[in-house]
Amino acid sequence: QNVPDGNNNNALFGKYEVGRLLGCGAFAKVYHARNVSTGQSVAIKVISKKKISATTSLMSNIKREISIMRRLNHPHIVKLHEVLASKTKIYFVMDFVKGGELFAKVAKARFTEDLSRRYFQQLISAVGYCHSRGVFHRDLKPENLLVDENGNLKVSDFGLSAVRGQVRHDGLLHTLCGTPAYVAPEILSKKGYDGAKVDVWSCGVVLYVLNAGYLPFNDPNLMAMYKKIYKGEYRCPKWFSLDLKRFLSRLLATDPEKRITVDEILRDPWFKKGYKEVSFYE
Ligand code: ADP
Ligand code: MG
Repeated sequence: QNVPDGNNNNALFGKYEVGRLLGCGAFAKVYHARNVSTGQSVAIKVISKKKISATTSLMSNIKREISIMRRLNHPHIVKLHEVLASKTKIYFVMDFVKGGELFAKVAKARFTEDLSRRYFQQLISAVGYCHSRGVFHRDLKPENLLVDENGNLKVSDFGLSAVRGQVRHDGLLHTLCGTPAYVAPEILSKKGYDGAKVDVWSCGVVLYVLNAGYLPFNDPNLMAMYKKIYKGEYRCPKWFSLDLKRFLSRLLATDPEKRITVDEILRDPWFKKGYKEVSFYE
């Protein structure tokens, strides 16, 4: 039925039975599929080569996404099984994450601080793991955070991430990317930025959203929103605890030099409550 290539003769679909559309992104469509021989559920992200061949930089983005995702093995990061290609498309076969987007959950109702903390601890565990391997996500937001059947968080969508090896010689990243509301102030000033620090900023925006149910920096006018981000102008709702407000002010410090680091996050009073470091195998 819903075969993404519109072509049943494709060898790929001998191995996978492709089902419903799970979601759409800027460049990709993601389908549910089943491995016919093992019965395992997978998600297949389909990227049209036509859409990306226009610019060679995007093709190199795809290659980058592949090599990055293959190197990552962590309980809170979506696992890539294999990469397949047809004449017109590239297919990323990965873990199927059953619970959908964290975004959909928080859009229904804001979370309690305890629930936010649990998701946030899992997010930081994944982000810290990536950073220690020179991988920055650069597009962390609730739409790219999925929840599995046990209520555990899985970071997905490494389409915009960069490896430290590709950083320009001044040690800073230069591409303008990410999603407006989650973008760090130093990206807006276009002076170059540190991938770890912008991820921490986005985590701060995510934490605010989980607890508030809405964005910290928002305006129908994009320039006005950027101005708020640039100035670090946000207000906490009255239900935020003092410890949460203090923690947020460290995550959303406009000066990247003053912003909290992942190591410091692990020692923050709001964050560390009940934190258990996850164990995993390489
Ligand atoms: P894009 O790079 O185009 O943003 P994503 O990788 O973010 O694409 O995928 C788009 C959407 O598809 C996600 O927001 C999510 O709803 C769904 N999705 C992506 N990966 C999975 C997965 N492994 N399991 C379940 N749903 C997924
Ligand atoms: Mg996405």
